[in-house]
Amino acid sequence: MATIDGNTLLARSLKDQGVEKIFGIVGFPVFGIPMAAQKEGIQFLGMRNEQAASYAAAAVGYLTGRPAACLTVSGPGMIHAIAGLANAETNCWPMILLGGSSNTYQEGRGAFQEAPQVELARIYTKYSARPDAASRIPFYVEQAVRNSISGRPGPVYLDFPDDFLAGQLEEDEVVFPARCPDPSRTQADPGDVQRAIEVLRSAERPLVIIGKGAAYSRAEAELRAFIEATQLPFLSSPMGKGVVDDEHPLSVAPGRGLALQDADVVLLLGARLNWIMHFGLPPRFDAKVKTIQVDIHAEEIGRNVPAEVGLVGDIKAVVGQLNAALETKPFRFAADAPWRSTLGAKVDENKEFVRSRMNDDAVPMGYYRVLREIQEQSPPGTFIQAEGAQTMDISRSVLMHDQPRLRLDAGTFGTMGVGLGQAIAAQVVHPDKKVICVEGDSAFGFSGMEVETACRYRLPIVFVIINNNGIGGGFDELPDDPFQSPASAYTIQAGYQKMIEGFGGKGYLVRTPDELSASLKQALDDTMPSIINVLIDPHARAKPQKHPWLTQ
Ligand code: ADP
Ligand code: MG
Repeated sequence: MATIDGNTLLARSLKDQGVEKIFGIVGFPVFGIPMAAQKEGIQFLGMRNEQAASYAAAAVGYLTGRPAACLTVSGPGMIHAIAGLANAETNCWPMILLGGSSNTYQEGRGAFQEAPQVELARIYTKYSARPDAASRIPFYVEQAVRNSISGRPGPVYLDFPDDFLAGQLEEDEVVFPARCPDPSRTQADPGDVQRAIEVLRSAERPLVIIGKGAAYSRAEAELRAFIEATQLPFLSSPMGKGVVDDEHPLSVAPGRGLALQDADVVLLLGARLNWIMHFGLPPRFDAKVKTIQVDIHAEEIGRNVPAEVGLVGDIKAVVGQLNAALETKPFRFAADAPWRSTLGAKVDENKEFVRSRMNDDAVPMGYYRVLREIQEQSPPGTFIQAEGAQTMDISRSVLMHDQPRLRLDAGTFGTMGVGLGQAIAAQVVHPDKKVICVEGDSAFGFSGMEVETACRYRLPIVFVIINNNGIGGGFDELPDDPFQSPASAYTIQAGYQKMIEGFGGKGYLVRTPDELSASLKQALDDTMPSIINVLIDPHARAKPQKHPWLTQ
């Protein structure tokens, strides 16, 4: 009779359930999993730290709608990857963490790297379990995948003791469940759809907010039709960029502050009224603002601000319902509404500010000039990962997307250190696209060793480090006594470009616009990864804002 080992059983189950990629680090007791996975046709990427691997897995889930896996050893390895679970949970992204663990019969004896892993994962997962027997691994993998993609997407954890992985089973004792289908697209209550349209019709100062939930649900065709039909002004969240073209004349992104503050009706499409949206409260919002909220997660409706109308359902499906209702009874926001000219004036004013900074060729350069070069040289469909406080922030107003799901950043959890893992994920999901990873120097440091991973897999990512000598910058030199140095300062003009050369990539040190232009051009043509280390003005800043970024 044919036998099958636990590693193969796991790999085959993952493949059956549509898990196509694993990011991880091998060691006891998971050495056998990558080999078994490769045999089943799953891509395995060996990373340098589980944190980066966990961020990569979650990014694939967001970009493709099916989870990727992160594989770790027991104890410390699994604990490193909890960072990725937390990041995925906060962003509502599917992923599977697979943790090896010590033999079941050693539990409680102080086994090698023994840790309460199922419990550790629980608060940041939708489902956290250890199969009750090796033969039931396929059942648990299907459960895990189903939980991660159903309802509000999120991370799941599965625990694999050494004796389950190494054990042999009779193949006919094992039941493989069918592939868990993609979630059905649930519609909202038709009565609520009508009410939503009535509220929009009554608005004097309407605003549509497009979040990354809309990008995840692939609602771009429906949303573009909705915006064209209604002519409503819209604002995209950082990862909602490109669901509708960022340069669409109805985008009020450059006038974000004013649009939020004065809107009387806000239609929220897969965006939460959390810290990023200033909780939907004054002073950033009108105290009397009416919200129409579309979300897959019923519990989200009315959080922080009671919803005027709550549409619980899948965004693609619900916007389809709105479009159908509009066909029978059209509504178009008036072309001569005063709200349009108010917003238009603000948009023009802010665009002019950004344009003047982008055109400033002074040396040392500031953020806007560096980002302008990236914007101008990016071929259509370029994928952007942006990370670092100012780097990420300013990149939102300079780097434009006309397609969805082409941007990843620190996200809802504000996680610094996601950059390299996410860029690697983006490049393996999109082998044909250019991937540019724009990093602050401090952000780069969290997972800089992953440039070795990028080089090893020959992923031609262009890493642009916008280097201002530390966290927030501001330092031209450091005191003689390093222990008197400011806590936020790093090595002045650190030579980050040199580290990639040891792995076969190409490094560039850049100070002027011309040097940047030439090196970016070369890097974008390269078949290997590059680091462009741009020494910017350490005192460069973003445009001053009316309110602090964390409004109290
Ligand atoms: P952003 O950071 O872009 O503002 P958030 O992460 O705050 O976006 O919000 C995304 C929202 O999208 C979450 O509340 C999540 O429940 C919701 N969501 C995720 N997938 C879907 C879907 N398919 N349909 C509707 N809502 C979804
Ligand atoms: Mg910095």
